[in-house]
Amino acid sequence: MPEVEKEWGGPLMKSMGVIGAGQMGNGIAHVAALAGLDVVMSDLDLDRAKAGKDKIARNMQRQVAKQLITPDEMNAGLARIEPIDAISAMSHVDIAVEAATEAEEVKKKIFEILCKDLNEGAVIATNTSSLSITRLASVTDRPEKFMGMHFMNPVPLMKLVEVIRGIQTDQETFASVTALAKDMGKVVVNSEDFPAFIVNRILVPMINEAVYTLYEGVGSVASIDAAMKLGATHPMGPLQLADFIGLDTCLSIMQVLYEGLADSKYRPCPLLVKYVEAGWLGQKARRGFYDYRGDGEPEPTR
Ligand code: NAD
Repeated sequence: MPEVEKEWGGPLMKSMGVIGAGQMGNGIAHVAALAGLDVVMSDLDLDRAKAGKDKIARNMQRQVAKQLITPDEMNAGLARIEPIDAISAMSHVDIAVEAATEAEEVKKKIFEILCKDLNEGAVIATNTSSLSITRLASVTDRPEKFMGMHFMNPVPLMKLVEVIRGIQTDQETFASVTALAKDMGKVVVNSEDFPAFIVNRILVPMINEAVYTLYEGVGSVASIDAAMKLGATHPMGPLQLADFIGLDTCLSIMQVLYEGLADSKYRPCPLLVKYVEAGWLGQKARRGFYDYRGDGEPEPTR
């Protein structure tokens, strides 16, 4: 039987702190609250944390409209989520899940601040898409209680969670985080601690290649996406998917692959770099490979 299938007999986690209330953080808080955990959620300031909760309310209303959850479940879930103004206000939680911007220095700083107040028994998980779990763990006071818990976007819809041990992660932490992911209704796959793990090791170089295809003029945005949807049965075209993930996140993942594996086949496409430099980060910035600012269908930008 695979290791992740072992039953967890330890104490259940009842409270979660989420750091970063962006697309992933608010999705993780959403699913955790519906699974019955008490959740506190922080961002750079209280307004951003509150905006994350507002987003959750809108997403839960959509789930009610589709009869995926009842209005009572929505109200109970929302009542369990508290936006907070500082990481120090999550010292009591059983698990802190970091879902801030994909930048190693940002994440390391967060862990240093988090560890100052966090209760001794708490586990720390990171939702990083690509960074070394072992290296992130090394700046904490509890590398044995630290691991990767990589949710997919959008968290309420996507079934998979990749769980990743750092070199020092202990079995109890691995078992409790695996059990938590299952309690949140997810299917767990174990990945070793290599750059970008399994999904993004395969997916993001494909997206980068689609950007090269655009850069070299092989096809337009519309033709590249149509080609992959109709020619490879992908539910979304790669450029549409890049916009959905966030072009900054895609670029960071390519940089981690390029540096971490020291192989030129992972070099980020200069056009991807240019879009990020322009602040065209995809859907979250309302402009990326498509322009989402109009009322109608998104317009391809090339
Ligand atoms: P995002 O830009 O939507 O959200 C990041 C949030 O972190 C922002 O709200 C930002 O204000 C906040 N933040 C930045 N610095 C912070 C700090 N010091 N303290 C607290 N909050 C801070 O990005 P996202 O797509 O939600 O990505 C977050 C993480 O999830 C990244 O590590 C990313 O790689 C990972 N991830 C992303 C996807 C995806 O498809 N977008 C999928 C899986 C995992």
